[in-house]
Amino acid sequence: MERFWAGSGISKNKAMVEHLQHYGVMSSKKVAEVMETIDRAFFVPDGTPAYVDSPMAIGYNATISAPHMHATCLQLLEEHLKPGMHALDVGSGTGYLTACFAVMVGPQGRAVGVEHIPELVTSSIKNIEKSAAAPLLREGSLSVHVGDGRQGWPEFAPYDAIHVGAAAPEIPHALVDQLKPGGRMVIPVGNIFQDLKVIDKNQDGSISVRSETSVRYVPLTSRDAQLRGY
Ligand code: SAH
Repeated sequence: MERFWAGSGISKNKAMVEHLQHYGVMSSKKVAEVMETIDRAFFVPDGTPAYVDSPMAIGYNATISAPHMHATCLQLLEEHLKPGMHALDVGSGTGYLTACFAVMVGPQGRAVGVEHIPELVTSSIKNIEKSAAAPLLREGSLSVHVGDGRQGWPEFAPYDAIHVGAAAPEIPHALVDQLKPGGRMVIPVGNIFQDLKVIDKNQDGSISVRSETSVRYVPLTSRDAQLRGY
């Protein structure tokens, strides 16, 4: 088992996906396909095991989420990541999910990452350039920006899909505003105990909220608080 997970390469990435399928974390073919296409090895820091199902430190008191969390969020958002749709990834960190979103919405769609640590934005762009999402970055349907994600990214709103990769004490209003009617947001909410919330905006603009599962994410906060160690 140890040996199976060691090293890197597309075949190991595929094995990771098969592992998630085998353990029932991943049922969607589309999500399996995109996670096979975007090799996780390009997104973890050098020397960090890429295919272990655990979050990994990426510096600046941030982590790359575990593969099973990436799979869960992609599945929850799948119907809102169809070709041509707009997706926002708040707290985009390594850029892994932003890249997955970009592949799913395709060149006619829009995938936008917002991250408040400029160094992470720079390294995420380098990661994406090594990955299968590189052409989408070059052609402009994928972009990553430095900013406070609690404000969303109005330029490409409204969004069919919004993913938040850090836990908010409460649901940020700006993000709800930037959600399209019929759109869905997946966001961890809470402090120490957090729920992964699924927020659907109905056609009349009202919202429905449910809790999917208990999670543990780093906080969605100010850059200063994060660099101080919260
Ligand atoms: N989905 C990312 C998760 C990274 S961890 C990945 O798997 O790589 C959460 C990220 O949220 C961190 O990179 C952190 O810097 C960022 N973050 C926290 N608060 C933020 C805010 N207010 N605005 C933008 N990014 C934020």
